[in-house]
This record gives sequence, C-alpha cells and structure tokens, in this order.
Amino acid sequence: MIGTSVQEDLQEIRSELESSSFEDQNCLVTGGAGFLGSWLCDIFLLAGAKVCCIDNLSSGSLENINHLKRNKHFTIRRVDVTNHSEPREKFHYILHLASRVSPEDYQEHPIETLLTNSTGTKDMLELARKNDSVLLYTSSSEIYGNSEIIPTPETYYGYVNPIGSRSCYDEGKRFGEALCIAYYKTYGLDVRITRIFNSYGPRMRADGAYARAIPRFISQGLASQDITVYGNGSQTRSFCYVTDTITAIVKTLQTLSMKGEVVNIGNPEETSILTLAQQILSLTKSNSRITFHPRPQDDPQRRCPDMSRAKKKLKWEPRVTLEQGLQKTISWFRDYS
Ligand code: UDP
Repeated sequence: MIGTSVQEDLQEIRSELESSSFEDQNCLVTGGAGFLGSWLCDIFLLAGAKVCCIDNLSSGSLENINHLKRNKHFTIRRVDVTNHSEPREKFHYILHLASRVSPEDYQEHPIETLLTNSTGTKDMLELARKNDSVLLYTSSSEIYGNSEIIPTPETYYGYVNPIGSRSCYDEGKRFGEALCIAYYKTYGLDVRITRIFNSYGPRMRADGAYARAIPRFISQGLASQDITVYGNGSQTRSFCYVTDTITAIVKTLQTLSMKGEVVNIGNPEETSILTLAQQILSLTKSNSRITFHPRPQDDPQRRCPDMSRAKKKLKWEPRVTLEQGLQKTISWFRDYS
C-alpha cells in the first residue's frame, strides 16, 4: 500500500541518504512484507537496488508490497526463512528482519519465534558467507528485558527472564545476536546489529494479536471503541517514527565502522502508555473511553534508548516528534484501514 503520505515519507528518507551506494546492488530482505521490511524494500528500490523479499506471511501482509508487484527489480518468495531453497542470485546485502514482533502474537507462537531467530538466522548467515554479503540483523530493545538502566546503552547486558512469557522473543533475539557475532569472529563476516526500540507508522497491523499499542489505540480511537490500557499505564516506551528508523537502518549499512558492531535505534522521547492513550484520544478527536486491564507478565516497566552511539557512529538522530508521527500515522489509518 502506498498512499501520498508514504510516498512523501519515502522521498524524505531518500533525500537524507547518499545516492550511490545501492545502485544495481542485490538486496535480500527477510520479512520484507512486514512493517519495517516493506519500507526497506521501497527505499532500496528507490535507491536503484534490486530487491528480493522473503516472507512466509505469518505476520507480514501482501498489501504492504502489492504496489511493487510490477516492478521488474522486485521479487517475492513466499517461503519460511527456516525452510527455503537457496536463491540463485548473489546478494550484496542481506537484511534479516523475519520474525513475529508483537508480544501477543509471538507468545502464541513461541517455538516458531525461537526458530526463526535461531535456525533462520543461521541460514541467512550461511547464505551471507557464501555470497560474501553484508548481513544486517534487526535485533530489539527486548534483549535488555526489564532494563535497570534508563536510558539504556548498548553496553548493558540485560535483565531477562529466560523462561518467562516473552523469552521466546528476548532469548531468540539474544541468540541471533550471539550467532551473528560468532560468524563475525570466526569467519570475519561483515555483520551489523541494530537494536530497534518501538518503531511505529503506516503499515503496522491493528488487528488481533498482531496489534502493538499505537496501531491498536489509533484504531480503537477511530472506531469509538474503548482504549485498552494494560495495568495503570505508568509503564513507559520511547516511540520512533518509521522514517527515522529506516534512515538509521540504512545508515548502519553505509557506515563501515559498524562491521561487527551493535547500535540502538530509537527515539529517546519517553512517554507513559497512559499519556500515549490520552494523546491518541485527543488527536483522533475520539469519544472513546480509556479502560484498564490486567498487565501482561514480564511487560518491561520502562524503555528508553541511550542514543550516544548512534549519534556518534551513524551521525544520526531521530527528527520526528511523537506528536508529528502520531498525526501522520492517524491520517494513514483514517485513509487505509
Ligand atoms: N499495551 C496496552 N494496551 C494494549 C497493547 C499494549 O496497554 O492494547 C501496553 C503494553 O502492555 C506495553 C506497551 O503498551 O506496556 C507497549 O506494548 P507493545 O505491544 O506496543 O510493544 P512492547 O513494547 O511491549 O514490545
């Protein structure tokens, strides 16, 4: 799906990135039909690359990439990253995003989530080794668990429950990171790891277990349904608008010193979930009520990235404020959902 506002956002990302680096390069995007994956497919095609998207559509959606169907530089393979035949082409870049990401969704599919991030990551690393590709692994702020240090720097080891309800994702991503670093140390493979903190924007799903807080609250607000806050809403998150996230991911690929490195990608503007719900209520001009529900197990209390490393290494900082990003996201949901 590509409306005018997404097109404008893509042009903005494009204008921030150097033009030459992806011309005629082959890029593989796993999870390319998902939220961030589909934005990356768009931006690489805009930058002159050829893009192959692998997605088993377990949580991604064809609607996100339908507009690319007729682009001769784009192909989609509807396969699982843990069970696919080896592609024939050689890839310069492999962006490994495939995974369920919504807590309610991955908790319903814990084994699949662990295998996608372990076996799936191993298969992508092997492919990268054969192709001599640069591999970017999208890890997550979840690897920090219920962080005791806020804002959280990359040097923090994490505070994670290895057998808790979120462990399939936390430990899956931690294993994925460890495997990437093992390939870097053992084979000198060019791997780069991004720890992505709550990103949001157009193309996020708002349905059922796939819905994260922002798209769910927006769709509830627009439909005049109750806005479902878990706990008392004092838990915090730091939300980063998609254009900022995508710019930072691409900059990670363009920054040579990121080889074998990890970097936080997010926006340090920390907000409580109750404040977020109230803000969405006001921006959607909704007459919904806020209702309170039991808090899920191991839901992190605070989450906010320390952005010093990203600032220094990528020479990047997020630009879009929460209010600006919410306004764009709300108008997209009004038009397309
Ligand atoms: N949340 C909520 N109501 C919902 C969905 C989520 O209050 O309907 C809360 C959730 O408990 C968490 C925060 O919003 O504290 C962010 O949840 P999300 O699912 O977006 O992602 P997370 O940051 O937990 O991975």
